[in-house]
Amino acid sequence: MIKVLVAGACGRMGREVVRAVSADQELTLVAAVDACEVGKDAGELAGVGVAGVKISDDLESAIADAGPDVMIDFTHAKAAKSNVLKGLRRGVHAVVGTTGLSETDLKEIEREALSAGTNVFIAPNFAIGAVLMMRLAEMAAQYLPAVEIIELHHDKKADAPSGTALLTAKKLASIVVRREEQTKKIALEGSRGGDFEGIHVHSIRLPGLVAHQEVIFGGTGQTLTIRHDSIDRSSFMPGVLMAAKAVVGLRGLTVGLENIL
Ligand code: NAD
Repeated sequence: MIKVLVAGACGRMGREVVRAVSADQELTLVAAVDACEVGKDAGELAGVGVAGVKISDDLESAIADAGPDVMIDFTHAKAAKSNVLKGLRRGVHAVVGTTGLSETDLKEIEREALSAGTNVFIAPNFAIGAVLMMRLAEMAAQYLPAVEIIELHHDKKADAPSGTALLTAKKLASIVVRREEQTKKIALEGSRGGDFEGIHVHSIRLPGLVAHQEVIFGGTGQTLTIRHDSIDRSSFMPGVLMAAKAVVGLRGLTVGLENIL
């Protein structure tokens, strides 16, 4: 049995993770950390009945008391970095779904992982369909190099653009050639979205959405749209559980679900 600590256990993703870990035969929930709902039972909060694990707001004590093998973090970027570094120093491997970590954060996390001899797995998107969307987009970009990205998320999302959109843009930027922007007159600032090395990224935030992305390619007299929809947060759980089992055997920092599929 792999002993799991969930950080951000009261959040939308954290509660989903508590449900998924509780139902898994190879994982056992031993600790749950969050800044809110402290003292409440993590299983009851997640709607799966009493788990016997109370929410704590003290990560270090939770690690010392429960001795987890793996921490699964779905919090906010600043919190995630500090949580992971604390865990690594105490011999706890980390699976991170939290988005918004910078390249500098990743480098610091990797250094700590290598020096502590504990491992970190990070994926901006744990849904298999999203990984396939990026892979198919990389294929399409070789033939249709004019591309823009639209990502659509629920209105409570803290960061923009999404980690998935940034990762997609990064992958595509190394394939497509930067086009000269023909739209010179911008009547409303931001109309053309963000610009990642020449690839425009547009973020939509609306209630009712979960996590969606379109990669739109334009060619002569045609367009190709590759779209992925996470219509429920359960879409991320097979990837999260797979990572929690794989991270023990991965050295240092690994980024991207495609590395363990
Ligand atoms: P949320 O706001 O519902 O939950 C975040 C939780 O973290 C909250 O309960 C908050 O109290 C808690 N928290 C904040 N600081 C903390 C700390 N220092 N220690 C412990 N807990 C702390 O957010 P959410 O919708 O669950 O999303 C969480 C993260 O997961 C976001 O970064 C989001 O972008 C990301 N996300 C990733 C994927 C993926 O596949 N990788 C999928 C969906 C969401």
